[in-house]
Amino acid sequence: MKYNCEICNKQHVIYFGMKAEASQTLGEIIKYEDTRVEELEKDYFFVDKSIVVIPAILEIQTESDILFTYETWVEINWDKFSRMADDFKNSKGSKIQGKLYDDLVPYYTESKGTNCIVEFLPNSIDKDRARITILDDSQLKLDQKNGISEVRLLELMNLIYHNPNAK
Ligand SMILES: [Zn+2]
Repeated sequence: MKYNCEICNKQHVIYFGMKAEASQTLGEIIKYEDTRVEELEKDYFFVDKSIVVIPAILEIQTESDILFTYETWVEINWDKFSRMADDFKNSKGSKIQGKLYDDLVPYYTESKGTNCIVEFLPNSIDKDRARITILDDSQLKLDQKNGISEVRLLELMNLIYHNPNAK
């Protein structure tokens, strides 16, 4: 799907899905202090012997039938995560509080550290990702709660094509 850009009069592609293959924060730590990070399994990191870092998906409703999704990374307290894992039943799934581990660039540039609920959906298989629900008051929370209009969606797209903060 494309839209006519009012800034440059060209057509741009609308990206409904964004995926951070690797965590930016984790990348920085591994680069300079890799002893702080242990990869327990693929996409499952133990950091500073205190938190678990895993991928999860944030979903936002749009005015069209397509969901706007951002696959990013969340941190969860290790003790709480272990306790949850002990009682975990895949048929039921589970929810736990965590935090966004990275900023959701380029859309929500100060989202790192935002409190959220991380939900492991029932009957998941290995490649399924947990779902994120934002807790802290923010534009991101409002967008997720209310869904985004087409105007708002294009506003987000303009951050890709005409980002004032881009170098
Ligand atoms: Zn443009």
